[in-house]
Amino acid sequence: MKLSLVIPCYNEEGNILFFYNYVKKTFEKIANYEMIFVNDGSKDDTFEKLKEISSDKKHVKVISFSRNFGKEAAMLAGLRASCGSYVCVIDSDMEQDPKIVLDMMAILEKDQNIDIVAAYQEQRNEGKLLSFFKKCFYNIINSISQVNFHQGVSDFRMFRREVVDAIISLEEQNRFSKGIFSYVGFNNYYLPYTTQPRNAGKSSFNFTKLFNYAIEGIVSFSTKPLRITFVFGFISLIIALISLIMLIFNKTLISILCALIFGMSGLQFIVIGILGEYISQVHIQSKNRPIYVVKHKINLK
Ligand code: UDP
Ligand code: MG
Repeated sequence: MKLSLVIPCYNEEGNILFFYNYVKKTFEKIANYEMIFVNDGSKDDTFEKLKEISSDKKHVKVISFSRNFGKEAAMLAGLRASCGSYVCVIDSDMEQDPKIVLDMMAILEKDQNIDIVAAYQEQRNEGKLLSFFKKCFYNIINSISQVNFHQGVSDFRMFRREVVDAIISLEEQNRFSKGIFSYVGFNNYYLPYTTQPRNAGKSSFNFTKLFNYAIEGIVSFSTKPLRITFVFGFISLIIALISLIMLIFNKTLISILCALIFGMSGLQFIVIGILGEYISQVHIQSKNRPIYVVKHKINLK
């Protein structure tokens, strides 16, 4: 198998047929490729649409989850099932033009030193506020993590087989893929691209989901926040000492004390929260539950 497309799908009934037909037309000249659709517990007719196209046994493979496990889990299932020499993760909503997949493959075929082609958005087609927060996230995570995150890079990437094998060998439960893709190393080529408007339906990621995703990413790929809490502790100890000394000379500092007490307890809650985030990851990992549960497989062993 030359090329595998890994396509996570959640409530994409309006996009499956369009995506499939578009890929068939675009990939006409590639003799040997597969589309692995992973139905991530869709509540609409996504699975019915997938069943329809699965009559094309040569090109279509389907994995369907028992419920919604999230895009990260869907990508993992697709990567595990893939057998292409090149494997590309792509969304099913046409925001990422499948034609770019051909450019990615051409880059890997031409230069044996490149192992991953990662598409990144030079210009984001989204609100200024969201763009700003995403930029902040990349700046924070790059400054506190040993893994490097390229601004604007998405999950839209093509890997050589060796890279896929490395990715699926990581057994962590909390799969922050952007981090995992960087963690495994190899040589990256960053390809600029522009997203297209969604073909049908609407995005499943709102601000809260993205915020949680960002926190998970930071906790998964850096332990610096734990160390920062040490610094918090020292600073508050010093402030407490200074205010104690000031209180001996000036008895009207009650209000300042009040502010300090509230300030300190606020800080303590933050610290406990940060600790909690790490402990919850240990908790989740220790249960060793499967990352997803498969209900149906079509054209796959
Ligand atoms: N997706 C998924 N599981 C989820 C949410 C999304 O498999 O729980 C898929 C979705 O079908 C799409 C891709 O992940 O193919 C990106 O999702 P979406 O378009 O909603 O996000 P956005 O492009 O707005 O970031
Ligand atoms: Mg999308």
